Amino acid sequence: MDNNLKRSIILEHYQNPHNKGLIDDDTYIKTNMNNESCIDELNIMVKIEDDIVKDIKFDGEACALCISSASIMTDTLIGKKTKEVEKILENFLNMTTEKEYDKELLGEAIVYEDVSKTPNREKCVLLSWWGIEKILNELKNN
Ligand code: ZN
Repeated sequence: MDNNLKRSIILEHYQNPHNKGLIDDDTYIKTNMNNESCIDELNIMVKIEDDIVKDIKFDGEACALCISSASIMTDTLIGKKTKEVEKILENFLNMTTEKEYDKELLGEAIVYEDVSKTPNREKCVLLSWWGIEKILNELKNN
């Protein structure tokens, strides 16, 4: 994907983030994520039913990379089975750490394929995805 297109997708998700804004609903699992190397602080809530990620919402103060990545993350993961979500998370992490990954699984999230070249921004991009990973891990351990 060419760099101008990547930048415009990131900007679009930053200016008009999808699924931003929390709701009052106890059926969601919530987590709070902080990135000390940036201003990023996100609250994330996920509804999982019958092993399917039914909905994700997020809110918080964060930089453009972090907000856009959270928005793309929600688009990428909502509607997927938890097993698929785990696979996508693994591939996304691989992409951002220069390991092999499956482009097909990641969709629009490949706009961050070069973020490993700017390691201080990696956490911004990964923060929301780590939040989902944390929630899935907590569910497994319960
Ligand atoms: Zn950031």
